[in-house]
Amino acid sequence: MKFISTRGACASVSAAEAILAGLAPDGGLYVPESFPTLSKQALEPGKPYASRVALALAPFFSGDPLEDKLRTICEDAFSFPVPMVDLGTTPAKVLELFHGPTAAFKDFGARFLARCMEALVSDTDKSPGRLAGSGYSDGDRLTILVATSGDTGGAVAAAFHRRKRISVRVLFPENGVSGRQQKQLTCWGDNVRSYAVRGDFDDCQRVVKEAFQTPLLVEKYRLSSANSINLGRLLPQAAYYIHASVEFLAATGGKPLLVIPSGNVGNAVGAYWARMMGAPIGDIVMAVNANRTIPDFLESGEYRPRPGIKTIANAMDVGAPSNLERLRALYPDTAGFRREVRAWSVSDEQLRQTIRRVYDESGYVLCPHTAAGEWVRQNHFPDEAAILVSTAHPAKFETVVEPLIGRQLEVPEALAALLDAPGNFETIKPELGELFP
Ligand SMILES: *Cc1c(COP(=O)(O)O)cnc(C)c1O
Repeated sequence: MKFISTRGACASVSAAEAILAGLAPDGGLYVPESFPTLSKQALEPGKPYASRVALALAPFFSGDPLEDKLRTICEDAFSFPVPMVDLGTTPAKVLELFHGPTAAFKDFGARFLARCMEALVSDTDKSPGRLAGSGYSDGDRLTILVATSGDTGGAVAAAFHRRKRISVRVLFPENGVSGRQQKQLTCWGDNVRSYAVRGDFDDCQRVVKEAFQTPLLVEKYRLSSANSINLGRLLPQAAYYIHASVEFLAATGGKPLLVIPSGNVGNAVGAYWARMMGAPIGDIVMAVNANRTIPDFLESGEYRPRPGIKTIANAMDVGAPSNLERLRALYPDTAGFRREVRAWSVSDEQLRQTIRRVYDESGYVLCPHTAAGEWVRQNHFPDEAAILVSTAHPAKFETVVEPLIGRQLEVPEALAALLDAPGNFETIKPELGELFP
């Protein structure tokens, strides 16, 4: 199975090559050359989660260096539950994607990617190298650089923590993340180093970009990225939709409408890919916050990326959604795109009202991102059999959610463990020389 660039100006590659490369050399994003059809086995209800994922993704890895390791990688990466629960008395179910170590859906992609990369770097060099007996060092085979405004860095750090022969450097804006977010970025140690940058998120991104544009550094440290455009993060996001839709169909007899809270659109691309492979999915709709780039594009037919604006659903504060390029590759003509892709924008006030309403009606607590999805579902599809995709645990956003529901939230066990660990970071100026002295 081969993968091609959305911009079509470079050779096709294997899954392993796409995962190690991140971005395609022509600046495009890797997408499957064609979509395999799910096997009968992959579509059987009642399968344990990790087995389902391994079956569903197997065709993408046929003939790939990772082929024989796929099952082990899945079993190791997906060691937490992926439940669907009723949403009060509505015809919808909530797909809870927040039971991983950092309590957001990004754990799926980051954990799968980390294990793929670990398997690939240990394959290319079987000698013990500089790591033997010396803990972790810059002599690792790969250095993952991430700039984060919050959620991604935590999921990536957690996923790569103690992965052999890979080290991680996480950059976050010194005064730009919440207390709990900072804990999740700085509690790791070992092969993960955290840097509080004296500046904002754009400064962090600029430093990372400069590093990637410095061939000496790229070579010396084997710089690589784990951001959400990596194919290794997309494939497992298709897999949970395959699993959820199969179980939904078995339980209700119908194909679900999927409602997906979206920012960079990687999560939603997973759903479209799952449907292309034959997963029993009906319509797919997106909910965005006040960052209206996609709804505006659907309305006007004109794509106008812009700077992100701050909202209470901050992991979706994206004004130039990078994975949109993958969706446009699926539906290249505008009419087709408008038929298949729908999106609504939800204001902060509507998010707050939705969190309050759902709590009052059913006692269920939504995170601010999931609330965007619920607003769209309730206002546009109240009677449809739907899966509302829950992207994070509400306790990650306690300063928004707790005042709205008037009580404290219990912190999930895995997250509590991270919050209790001592933090450890260096503060640096936003300069490349500070990151790589
Ligand atoms: C990243 C994130 C999103 C947005 O997902 P995309 O794949 O970027 O569309 C939504 N909710 C939460 C909690 C996230 O962390």
